[in-house]
Amino acid sequence: MHAVPADPRHAMVLFSGGQDSTACLAWALARYARVETIGFDYGQRHRVELDCRLVVRQVLAAQFPHWAARLGDDHLLDLGLLGQISDTALTSARAITFAANGLPNTFVPGRNLLFFNFAAAVAYRRGASVLVGGMCETDYSGYPDCRDNTLKALQVALSLGLDTPMLLETPLMWLSKAQTWALTDQLGGAALTALVVEHTHTCYLGDRGSRHAWGHGCGHCPACRLRRQGFDVWQAQVSAP
Ligand code: ZN
Repeated sequence: MHAVPADPRHAMVLFSGGQDSTACLAWALARYARVETIGFDYGQRHRVELDCRLVVRQVLAAQFPHWAARLGDDHLLDLGLLGQISDTALTSARAITFAANGLPNTFVPGRNLLFFNFAAAVAYRRGASVLVGGMCETDYSGYPDCRDNTLKALQVALSLGLDTPMLLETPLMWLSKAQTWALTDQLGGAALTALVVEHTHTCYLGDRGSRHAWGHGCGHCPACRLRRQGFDVWQAQVSAP
């Protein structure tokens, strides 16, 4: 990957410190000349992932020097207002359940639309024209703001509203969780897989105490189950004769 000339554009990665956005960060670092990260503090229950963000960036830069040269600033935005306008299991101490419409109550309505709008505003100022997010239609929990068409429409709206091309890239959109594990392996080999296992955070409950083969987490919440099942499928595939 050293020999491949970088795409000269600058990218802004929506980076939560979780597995998916870490895969997106590696994906962007393998492509773009300069990559910055942006995260959002909205009073989420799994705040521990905000601590993971800086650790992941540090370990990534230390272990992949050719990516470190491209890795730019990190931005952490205070979106406390999102906690004020939502009443869900992510921002208050309630059990994760499913509403009548099939959506888990971890859903903050339109969350990803807001994230991309704020990221675009920062990207514009920073001279970045590519926004990268880990949204996925394949294994997702039904969030309509993760859908490909939603984000394509938003790409058009942002590009018009800012009067400059703003490309929304979602490299995980059509990947299963197993394929996301395979993608990180392709991008950074065993070192990147180990980084994802050890330092990224996915668990909705913010549990970092229990260490499994697939990483830290409670092992039971929807996010942990997806991560574990994806890891198991990927492991079965790579160990198959
Ligand atoms: Zn969990």
